[in-house]
Amino acid sequence: MDTLKFTVLPGDGIGPEVMETALNVLNHVAQKHQFTLQYEQCYVGGAAIDRHGMALPTATLEACRHSDAILFGSVGGPKWENLPPEEQPERASLLPMRKAFSLFANIRPGLLYPELADASPLKATRIPQGIDMVCVRELTGGIYFGQPKETTTLDNGEKRAVDSMVYHTSEIERIADVAIETARGRGKKICSVDKANVLATSVLWRETVIKYLSEKAPDIKLSHLYVDNAAMQLAGNPGQFDVILTENMFGDILSDLMASICGSLGMLASASLGADKNSHGLPFGLYEPAGGTAPDIAGQGVANPCAQILSAALMLRHSFGKSQAANEIEHAVRQTVSTGTRTQDIAFDTKSVSTQQMAQAILSHLE
Ligand code: NAD
Repeated sequence: MDTLKFTVLPGDGIGPEVMETALNVLNHVAQKHQFTLQYEQCYVGGAAIDRHGMALPTATLEACRHSDAILFGSVGGPKWENLPPEEQPERASLLPMRKAFSLFANIRPGLLYPELADASPLKATRIPQGIDMVCVRELTGGIYFGQPKETTTLDNGEKRAVDSMVYHTSEIERIADVAIETARGRGKKICSVDKANVLATSVLWRETVIKYLSEKAPDIKLSHLYVDNAAMQLAGNPGQFDVILTENMFGDILSDLMASICGSLGMLASASLGADKNSHGLPFGLYEPAGGTAPDIAGQGVANPCAQILSAALMLRHSFGKSQAANEIEHAVRQTVSTGTRTQDIAFDTKSVSTQQMAQAILSHLE
């Protein structure tokens, strides 16, 4: 029997509440599809600070190193907000994990079912088919990591800060590969977003994407937008997009805009894929909901479990090659939402249900 070995890091706030539901769903599909789950739960973020004095304890990192994937909840909250910035849960756990596992590719589906159109801040007339797109963001290069990155004091006493935006051809090609694979599983369209009218890195980005796709993926329809126009298009006509391919900072901003037009953060999953292959010959990855720890609703049992459950589906697909099981989970989530079983963030006129009730409905649709 195929064994899926992964580390579970529920984190803080609603993290443990929604993680429990995702594990139930995974156990259900594992039984049905006859694979074995082998996972270890470890502390991360604020929970790890409270127990071990650091957001990413060595034992947690080691458990992840011995796994084929990480299923992550979310970290942070008011309790740890007064710590020095470099010790705070998100910065001291997620960023080191991205580095430790070279998580260079962030895949964020932007999905809004037509029946949930009310959740979007856009008028329903602008999104008659709902929203169904994917943002593929380069995650370990660009201005967030380029050197030099420093603040100096000049002779006249004024301060000067520098961030460097750096990209190499190889970094652009490997994220283009992820976008190609993603597009081939969908509508075969990639819109590459840059700022090639101003930035040297964007000129290289655009040249590389054009050359690489013409050689490796002539079947993909490629288009380009400057990032400012891409933001306008996302807010005005998101239906035109299939896969957006972009660099680190632009992707950071655009993927949040995409999340916002898709309504509730409780519905959006994400995958961050590593450069290394796991023992299944597939990318090692970290899978997490797009939202945070939602301190305003944590502990109330009302969080939407879908983002965490859909993150588990992404893990099955990308790190374990279990596409059939992943499809079934995604279908069950949609069925559940469509038949009106909804947590309060997406309930609107219907009566809202608890996290557990929503998860139970998803399990019954899986049957
Ligand atoms: P948030 O995403 O936690 O919450 C924003 C809003 O979305 C809140 O109203 C919340 O109730 C709602 N929401 C989010 N997920 C939901 C769900 N599953 N179901 C229903 N509603 C949901 O963002 P925030 O308030 O800016 O941040 C709270 C904490 O989370 C902070 O400490 C922040 O640092 C942390 N955070 C962590 C991550 C991560 O771990 N990757 C990401 C973002 C924020």
